[in-house]
Amino acid sequence: MSKNKNKFQPPTTKPGSALNNKTGDWRTSKPVIDKNICIGCSRCAKLCPDACILMKLDKEGKLKAEVDYDYCKGCGLCAAECPVKAILMKRGE
Ligand code: SF4
Ligand code: SF4
Repeated sequence: MSKNKNKFQPPTTKPGSALNNKTGDWRTSKPVIDKNICIGCSRCAKLCPDACILMKLDKEGKLKAEVDYDYCKGCGLCAAECPVKAILMKRGE
């Protein structure tokens, strides 16, 4: 009986972080935030399945949402859930 030397194959992909997979390339629609309308509630940042909305202080010290387009997949959840409709999904961007 021959021994199978390849019984334990190395993994075909290397372990890593989601940070290495820039999923923004998949996007067909792009969320655009109107910071004049955004009230800084953080709802979109909490709900984004890709955790790619960051809350940052603007020049006036007010909290505003900002999308990291490297990782946004364009699902539109943020736009659907924004209570003041500050996010518009633009197709083809
Ligand atoms: S949900 Fe709308 S109002 Fe709230 S932080 Fe996001 S963009 Fe701003
Ligand atoms: S479109 Fe989807 S993935 Fe992109 S920022 Fe909004 S919730 Fe996140």
